[in-house]
Amino acid sequence: MKIDGVAVNYDCTSFYLKKQHMCFGCGYILEARRRDVVVNTGTPEAKKYQLSTAETFSHGFSHSNILVTTFFFYCPSCGRSYEVRELINLEREQKRKEKRVRNGLSGFSLTVE
Ligand SMILES: [Zn+2]
Repeated sequence: MKIDGVAVNYDCTSFYLKKQHMCFGCGYILEARRRDVVVNTGTPEAKKYQLSTAETFSHGFSHSNILVTTFFFYCPSCGRSYEVRELINLEREQKRKEKRVRNGLSGFSLTVE
């Protein structure tokens, strides 16, 4: 397949990628991994990627094959993998739950005192 351009999609900051993240299944530390996919700009699939920053080597942009480097997180312990967006959402949800628990506990200690 002819490659007409390249793009890198982080979906997060480089800080987030290097940070330690825990597996929601087993609690093991996740590994950041890269995945290269070829996306044709003429397909609906292309909408899932940020291709506006793509570096193209050929004429035009429509119906070009772009080699997109993306990242995901992989758990070496249980084999579960997380898309970056998925992990961000899970962690956000977890933080909300923790906050609810903390608020609940402080309310409880107040009534005890
Ligand atoms: Zn795991």
